[in-house]
Amino acid sequence: MKEDGVMKKTKKIMPLLLLLLILVIPLSACVNKGGTNTASVNEKAVKNVIIMISDGCGANHILATDYFSNGQAGSQVYEAFPARYYVSTYSAGKIETDDDARYTYDPATIWSSFDELKASATAMASGTKTYNGAIGLDPNQKELRNIAADFEEHGKSTGVITSVELSHATPAGFVTHHPDRRAYLEIANQMIRESATDVIMGAGNPRYNDDGEQRSSIGDDDYAFVGGRETWEALGNGSLGNDADGDGDIDQWHLIQTKAEFTALQTGTVPNRVIGVPEVYSSLQYNRSGDVNADPFVVPLLETVPSLAVMTRGALNVLDNDPDGFFLLIEGGAIDWAASNNQSGRMIEEETDFNQAAAAVSDWVDANSSWSETLVIVTSDHETGYLTGTPGVYDEVINNGQSIMPTMAWNSDSHTNQLVPIFAKGPGVDLFEKYAVGSDPVRGAYLDNTDIPKVIRELLGVK
Ligand SMILES: [Zn+2]
Repeated sequence: MKEDGVMKKTKKIMPLLLLLLILVIPLSACVNKGGTNTASVNEKAVKNVIIMISDGCGANHILATDYFSNGQAGSQVYEAFPARYYVSTYSAGKIETDDDARYTYDPATIWSSFDELKASATAMASGTKTYNGAIGLDPNQKELRNIAADFEEHGKSTGVITSVELSHATPAGFVTHHPDRRAYLEIANQMIRESATDVIMGAGNPRYNDDGEQRSSIGDDDYAFVGGRETWEALGNGSLGNDADGDGDIDQWHLIQTKAEFTALQTGTVPNRVIGVPEVYSSLQYNRSGDVNADPFVVPLLETVPSLAVMTRGALNVLDNDPDGFFLLIEGGAIDWAASNNQSGRMIEEETDFNQAAAAVSDWVDANSSWSETLVIVTSDHETGYLTGTPGVYDEVINNGQSIMPTMAWNSDSHTNQLVPIFAKGPGVDLFEKYAVGSDPVRGAYLDNTDIPKVIRELLGVK
């Protein structure tokens, strides 16, 4: 009897509960909208965006690394992402002397020609194609808006990390503006002193050489990648910063250099603004001495330098301090260098380092975020080396099994006009299909590199 009584009471209460829910849900939604966040509804669709760029990497570079690492194709986490397309990467014409470059992608001729093309990260960072060598400027030298600025405007944190010098073209292209990508000193100062970037990590440490050995003396030029002696010393004594989050207070940089400091940054409570410059000069591992044509990992890696994966986990741990979300650019910067020099072993080493960073990103989303709020894009700025399986023939590199070098042929020592792969997972992946209107006889649907910031701006609700 008592049980019946309870049942009856519950039956009476249920419709009331439902009515309450119907009333309360829209109310709470209104409260959220009416809070401090006044941006468009679209903004809620994406909290974090992580772009990973493997500099110089084409489809065959990924395939060769898959074969060496695992003995099979498709073995990287991003190769199973739901959006998988190709991207055209040609640059805009401007420099009169640059007459070797063709400023288009023509699927009808690319498969029968090995012409070399050049490209720029600025197109991906701003949505506008420019001339080779420009950073964040259009062909008329007008400043382009970087997508990093769009994230800043939405109250989000931003970071750029790379396995080469921190002021190199790709990280610089997302946060600075300069007519000459080789003006490292000025670019580094823009990044460190003027930009609102919250995390900067990369090589370029003036105190160390390419083998991670301490220099006996440091010349003025050795400070260029970190913005000169004065900037470096100010970073070292913790006295450098600007207002990164727009609250009117100075946000000081927190400099880290040792492998132990990078390792520690991966977990626990960390500062909100970090510049990480590992104890090595021009690259994490690529420029270390030893046989440059040896198979991957035959020449031991420098043990005093963090991997790109460790840097990635540290950067994510800093950026996720911001409850509004963040933008992070992660560059594997030396795949391009290895490919330019046709060094198959070092190319696979560098792409392996990049792949491990991609796995770290995927693990971070699973553990600390979700694929409904974090968009991850893995792509390249251009192909380098015209890598094939057979010299002079466009075909795939050939699998010889795990830990055995695949059969590979280099057909160029420069950037090429090949389409590069793009993989994406997270909110807005369907937008890639919308922009992939190009059709290539071999690769299928492709978008242009300027479409990448369009996708992101659409997600952010930026016009
Ligand atoms: Zn590049």
